Amino acid sequence: MDHGARQKRFAALFRSIEVDAMLVTHMPNVRYLTGFTGSAGTLLASARPVFTTDGRYKVQASQQVQRAKIVVGNGSALASAIKEIRKARIRRLGIESEHMTVATRRILTRELGRGVKLVDTTAAVENLRLIKDRDEVRLIRKAVDLGSKLLPVVTKALKAGKTEASAAARLEFAAREQGAEAMSFETIVAAGARSALPHGVASATRLPRKGFVVLDYGVILEGYCSDMTRTVCIGGATSEQRRVYNAVLEAQLAAIAAVAPGRTVGEVDEAARSVLKRAGLDQYFIHSTGHGVGLEIHESPRVAARQKDLLQPGMVITIEPGVYIGGKFGVRIEDMVLVTERGSEVLTRAPKVLLEL
Ligand code: ZN
Ligand code: ZN
Repeated sequence: MDHGARQKRFAALFRSIEVDAMLVTHMPNVRYLTGFTGSAGTLLASARPVFTTDGRYKVQASQQVQRAKIVVGNGSALASAIKEIRKARIRRLGIESEHMTVATRRILTRELGRGVKLVDTTAAVENLRLIKDRDEVRLIRKAVDLGSKLLPVVTKALKAGKTEASAAARLEFAAREQGAEAMSFETIVAAGARSALPHGVASATRLPRKGFVVLDYGVILEGYCSDMTRTVCIGGATSEQRRVYNAVLEAQLAAIAAVAPGRTVGEVDEAARSVLKRAGLDQYFIHSTGHGVGLEIHESPRVAARQKDLLQPGMVITIEPGVYIGGKFGVRIEDMVLVTERGSEVLTRAPKVLLEL
């Protein structure tokens, strides 16, 4: 991981956002810039970057933190950062306005006094993270591959009469055994009428003898998240279920085909939505088509209607249209897709033909 290059690209923004230094407090951003994976730390990014943490992370910081002086004080990471800000005579300090609590901002204002102007910035590090570098793409591929590999584990656990939670437990056990640090988010196993809930987290509901099951899960491997959805059918699918499944799959493929550098994310969303419109199902597609993925499960860009952000090589997004017919059933199919110089590459390798169990 070239943390030096990342910090350099970050520092190059300071002039345009009119700051002398940035206090990075959002942990995924601290990790991105320094390599530190703990839960408490700050990066004072400036000409002389300083990483601060507390005593619990002294050893870990010395092993992980790249390209910054490490300061471990007696107090909190923030208390140490305040001392460093004073020492460095910073006048205009950028803060991450989407992440800093009001309480922390008050402490900074009080402790730093009038000499330091706090400058609210938005998405300063996130905008760098939008384009994944070589190392990141490599790690994302690994996470996605593990996710794909685990699909048979969970489909095997889908037995009528067992609970959704027990299928999720099998999946999560296998994921940890195979190296996952954690799941990317709460595993979704949503069966029968619950499949019409876009966020049907695995519950104590028993699996039916017949019906769709939406499986949406991801693993975290070396910090990077994967995210995939497959919808399978216990028992044979009815002709209506098959028609809806095929329409969602066609929408998903159309959206993937629309992914290319220079296209807008809105065009990708529209590609999926127009297929479902032709099938008379667009009123049941009640969320956006996808989102960026990386160190966090939901990152920019948001692949949603009318959004003008341009796709660029190195972005990693999900494509996940769905149809949710309340009280009956739902279908969603989700892959992770890398934007390449020429178009796109689907990273998720699990098959998408309707699996009938
Ligand atoms: Zn998902
Ligand atoms: Zn997703």
